Amino acid sequence: MSKSLFALFGNPVSHSKSPLMHNLAFRGLGIDACYTRYLLANGERLKEMFFALGLKGINITVPHKESAFNACDILDPFAQKIGVVNTIVEREGKLYGYNTDAPGFLKAISEFTEVKTVLFLGAGGTAQSTSRLLRDEGYEVTLLNRSQARLEKYKADGFETYTFEAFLSTDFSSKAYDLIINMTSAGLEDENLPAPKEILNVLMPLSKACVDVIYGKETPFLKLAKSYKKPTKDGSDMLLYQGIIAFEHFSEYRYTFNEIKPWMQKAFSLS
Ligand code: NDP
Repeated sequence: MSKSLFALFGNPVSHSKSPLMHNLAFRGLGIDACYTRYLLANGERLKEMFFALGLKGINITVPHKESAFNACDILDPFAQKIGVVNTIVEREGKLYGYNTDAPGFLKAISEFTEVKTVLFLGAGGTAQSTSRLLRDEGYEVTLLNRSQARLEKYKADGFETYTFEAFLSTDFSSKAYDLIINMTSAGLEDENLPAPKEILNVLMPLSKACVDVIYGKETPFLKLAKSYKKPTKDGSDMLLYQGIIAFEHFSEYRYTFNEIKPWMQKAFSLS
């Protein structure tokens, strides 16, 4: 049987750890497969390129997760509900779509056992899947975003939402959230906080923990949380766990999460 090929589709893709994570797991588990990266400029060509490259499965990153949803023949119920796909597997010529970002994130925050209320800073693509899964799991989710436009669909879906401006005009010192999450790209390539300091300086001391989805650096958000002596966590576990769950789909569920984990985890000790 020929080697199975997998890839990451996105634009850009050069920075991603996914090829290393998956190749380490293929090698460690003795699977004859290889994972590469493919810079896809036009999301509408996703399905065509998938078959042209002879792939067995892909992960999809920014900005093609909605195109990936549209390219699938069969969607799992959660992907269907949120409209965002980051993992595709080919079976008998049909494309099966999944979302592993949200369950990966849920698992990453499972160590914070006392959490009931969650404040999302940001309302972009990553928040779209994670906020819905957290709500399904019984968390009370509020979204705070810099501008109004992205909040509209959350509002329509019954979430409590605020722009910074609207939040500042409330008596927010009476609001407390157990977990505060930076779901923005603020701090990724700059030294910005994801929300005004006057808001964070009130909410952080009242929180139980603060989590950033950015990984590989200590963001200003995490630095501020540490100054309040809060438990913190960056986005590394989210990245690792979404990868493990994708690998479970790629390997047709022959390996458990805990069998895959030690191999994939090695990617974080290699630069
Ligand atoms: P999107 O581009 O879809 O959304 C960006 C969000 O960030 C918007 O809500 C935007 O607000 C907000 N934002 C951007 N800059 C600022 C700023 N300076 N101040 C305040 N708000 C800002 O991004 P994604 O949802 O795709 O990604 C969000 C983050 O998640 C990124 O940092 C990404 O690296 C990380 N990520 C991590 C993963 C992991 O495995 N750890 C997986 C996927 C993503 P507005 O609406 O006003 O523009």
